[in-house]
Amino acid sequence: MRAEIVAVGTELLLGQIVDTNSTWIAEHLASAGIDCLFQTRVGDNLERIVEVLEVALGRSDAVVVCGGLGPTQDDITREAIATVMGVPLRRDPALLAAVEAVFAARGRQMAPINAKQADLPVGASPIRQRIGTAPGLVCPVGAKVVYALPGVPDELREMVERAVLPDLLARSGERAVIVSRTLRTWGTSESGLAEIVAPRLEALDRAGPGAATIAFLASGIEGIKLRLTVKAETAAAAAAVLDAEEAEVRALVGDAVFGVDDETMEHAVGELLVDRRLSFAVAESFTGGLIASRVVALPGASRWFRGGVVAYASDVKHAVLGVPEGPVVTSAAAVAMAEGVRRLLGADVGLATTGVAGPDPQEGHAPGTGFAGIALPGAVGEAVALRLAGSRERIRQIGTISALDELRRRLLARA
Ligand code: ATP
Ligand code: MG
Repeated sequence: MRAEIVAVGTELLLGQIVDTNSTWIAEHLASAGIDCLFQTRVGDNLERIVEVLEVALGRSDAVVVCGGLGPTQDDITREAIATVMGVPLRRDPALLAAVEAVFAARGRQMAPINAKQADLPVGASPIRQRIGTAPGLVCPVGAKVVYALPGVPDELREMVERAVLPDLLARSGERAVIVSRTLRTWGTSESGLAEIVAPRLEALDRAGPGAATIAFLASGIEGIKLRLTVKAETAAAAAAVLDAEEAEVRALVGDAVFGVDDETMEHAVGELLVDRRLSFAVAESFTGGLIASRVVALPGASRWFRGGVVAYASDVKHAVLGVPEGPVVTSAAAVAMAEGVRRLLGADVGLATTGVAGPDPQEGHAPGTGFAGIALPGAVGEAVALRLAGSRERIRQIGTISALDELRRRLLARA
């Protein structure tokens, strides 16, 4: 099975957005064992999209097209595919109802221009939307196939996993499932992790087909991810290999793993707090409520989260949290804040942040200087220096996750 990818959008050609969709699709085709031999980017121009599709169909069995399925004038992927198939577009009443229902569910009336999203080249079948409005398309062209997917990355990914990969595997006659599991890490650099995991990678290389593969994904501010992928005959067989592989990797990486798949740092902290029957409060300075905000985004946080204080001005730290007069970007102030909020809000555990988000220095400290204060029951309050760098936004975000991670590691130690 030979596949190729076509990304549609003039903004891709102008360098206004980066074609992350093609990269993502390519990675998933590869891990499904489907060869991807070409990737093309083309602007929003009917003639040129048709030309690219014809070339692609001339040399590959399957073409995955992304972008240009929206409602606007420049969204012409459907027309281009219909031209290549040599068929007209026909409006599908059931799809139209589905698109209308998405708008209705958001309390909005569908603008007439959106009706276009219910058009299908005759002979094509839709991939229903679960996130946005534009359905995807599966378009047979002789013995070959063109898949059309929306440009919006979340929508595209969901459809690739649910519909495109299974369909491609079915067409290629392979009876296999491909399952991934992501281990999320914090506190170790990508190169550091690579070194730690190297022995395992070598062992997997030697093991050959059927073994898991491991990929490193740097995910912006949310830490480095280790994605384990297996191809097996059944989901149960894949899960068994993944379980074993996860254990191998955890044995090497240890506590740096804070979660699996969609589990966030605050999720990990919440589980530990619930498990140890501890309630939680935060006192935040440079993170300005980001910790509290992430915590309350978790369903069930009310079982363990008491509340938080954003103590930004120094005199608020002194008056509300009982931080002694003097400098506030210090480990002592961080501890006093954590102990203060724990007392004030009647929580078992207090976590505090104080630091310099920048761009200007404060109290003679460079931006990125920060401390997490941690107050646990039956223990002397403790502060940890946070090593943060980057923009003001990045420092606040990384500071938030780092402070939670410091608490997580201490809770783990209190088994
Ligand atoms: P919409 O219904 O939103 O119009 P669409 O299928 O028409 O979706 P586009 O209009 O091409 O898709 O793109 C929608 C958005 O998706 C773009 O603004 C861009 O942010 C993102 N996007 C499009 N193509 C890519 C790509 N190849 N890589 C990454 N992001 C993309
Ligand atoms: Mg669009």
